[in-house]
Amino acid sequence: MNRGLILIFLSVFGLVTAQQGPYYQQFAKYSMDIDVDVANYTYTGNQTLTYTNNAPDELKVVYFHLYWNAFKSGSMMDQRAQNLGKNGDSRLHKGGVSTLSAIPKNEEGAQNIHWIKQNGKNLKFEVQETIMKVILDTPIIPNSTTTFTMEWDAVIPMQIRRSGRNNREGIDLTMTQWYPKIAEYDYDGWGTFDYVGREFHAPFADFDINIKIDREYIIGAGGTLLNPTEVKGYDANAMVKVDGGNKATWRWTAKNMLDFAWAADKDYTVESFPILDGPKVYYVYQKSEKTKFWEESKPYITKFFQLMNASFGRHVYPSYSFIQGGDGGMEYGMSTMILGEAKTLEGLVGLMVHEGGHSWHQQIMAYNESMRPWMDEGFTSYYESIVMNQLFPPAQSAPNPFLGSLNNYRNFVKKGIEEPAVWLGDHHDNGTAYSFATYVKGELFLVQLGYIMGEQNLSMVMKEFYQQWKLKHPTDRDFMHIAQKMSGMDLQWFRHYWINTTKTIDYAVKNLRHEGNTTTITLENKGSVPMPIDFSVLTKDKKVVNYQIPLNMTHTWKAKDIYGDFKTLDYWPWTQKEYTFTIPYGKSQISALGIDFSQRLADVNPEDNYVETK
Ligand SMILES: [Zn+2]
Repeated sequence: MNRGLILIFLSVFGLVTAQQGPYYQQFAKYSMDIDVDVANYTYTGNQTLTYTNNAPDELKVVYFHLYWNAFKSGSMMDQRAQNLGKNGDSRLHKGGVSTLSAIPKNEEGAQNIHWIKQNGKNLKFEVQETIMKVILDTPIIPNSTTTFTMEWDAVIPMQIRRSGRNNREGIDLTMTQWYPKIAEYDYDGWGTFDYVGREFHAPFADFDINIKIDREYIIGAGGTLLNPTEVKGYDANAMVKVDGGNKATWRWTAKNMLDFAWAADKDYTVESFPILDGPKVYYVYQKSEKTKFWEESKPYITKFFQLMNASFGRHVYPSYSFIQGGDGGMEYGMSTMILGEAKTLEGLVGLMVHEGGHSWHQQIMAYNESMRPWMDEGFTSYYESIVMNQLFPPAQSAPNPFLGSLNNYRNFVKKGIEEPAVWLGDHHDNGTAYSFATYVKGELFLVQLGYIMGEQNLSMVMKEFYQQWKLKHPTDRDFMHIAQKMSGMDLQWFRHYWINTTKTIDYAVKNLRHEGNTTTITLENKGSVPMPIDFSVLTKDKKVVNYQIPLNMTHTWKAKDIYGDFKTLDYWPWTQKEYTFTIPYGKSQISALGIDFSQRLADVNPEDNYVETK
């Protein structure tokens, strides 16, 4: 779709607001020639970057990320790990002491920029560790394109966090966030987040990458390999084409992605399988007893792509690669780097489903992960729970796949160290608090919306969100716009409570009064987040009777839910602490009653939500 059409499309759907101006996104096109010296763990790079400024602003400077400059003793990443001690990311410290503080000089990483030119003219630049500021010779005016050329060399760090060499499973090179990458510019300004360990953000880009490396190496990457017959691993009839010394050149291409990642190892095996209406999937890993579950995972991963296509939206990229590498699991364009050795099939599939899920919630829906990590991690976790519940159904059939996440959240809240999800990803004081704010609260954000508006409505909201925002950079405001429009409900109060605060939901059945064939019930709001209430009665003859007590703030009530039909009672104003109502069932007819039989409500003390009558 061209820009004019996008504007018409956005106007029709009301996304263009007077306040914010029309939506736009920047675009980059990288061509790179990379020459790897595997013996010395270095490479040299040449980059031509065509950058299109679609913003209504004139740009006088541009910024680049130089992530590998973080992997040094004394770097900001080192300082951050030192400051956080045992509360920090466990991969960045040992016993509370930053791993980087003691890194030998020959294991440090670096990206050294030799020069950068704009349309052939040398530019001034200054490097502030992981951010390079480039002062432009000619400002980039709105709706224009400029060309940068650049030459640099890089030292591949020992693998400590995500990128680097010699990971603990013996993968030689994990090449992620490995090239000078232009920062994102949007309505919020330049996304110049110093790299201290967490998430990323970038404009969409096309990539043409030539990687020259020792002929013995096999490369796994997120992209399309253009010359499989000239390199090792991808084509049974390949004749490895060696140019000059002993190196082969791999030619990769990819379109409309946030970044290009690759890994290289001499002992990789490459396998692939097609998915009907989905991407061609590549597995690039070291085949051994420890990675035996990769073979078994294939039918599960096929099902995973099909479930995501059906429940959220069709995957847009031609292929997707699961690559053994890195230090856990991290998502990149058309690929993920994951540790390959797994104790169980479910463990491996769970990791693949999470990281593969990011292909939707991070690549295609390119949230700003640094500013709103709860969107990409939370939404990914939400679908991970749904998919895993279908791939590995629990022994006792559980109607809602989120029980585990809800219980984790409840236990965590009791520790008293929760931090609001609205905080920037890199600025949490505690690694566990970050994980809960991001993965768990983000997932439960959608679970609570499903409870408030009904699952059918939420499902429609998610699909519409995908259709309107795929291959763009949606914010939570954009999501809420669609959620409110499609449900007809006012939901901003919920977004505020759930994301901006650590307030909690806590309702209770306070009192029952039986009188003949009726029972009068008093509910109490003991918490600080108001919610609508689903209330049910289980009768002695095993019937479930459902009631809905709407919260006045939504102003429109949910019409249906997959957990059964219900009768709608008078609304409950959020300012009112108690709510009393009468049902036409006497003591002798009731077996049990209570709040939220579906167990979706993130009530921190659910034990006082139910009463069994004897
Ligand atoms: Zn994730």
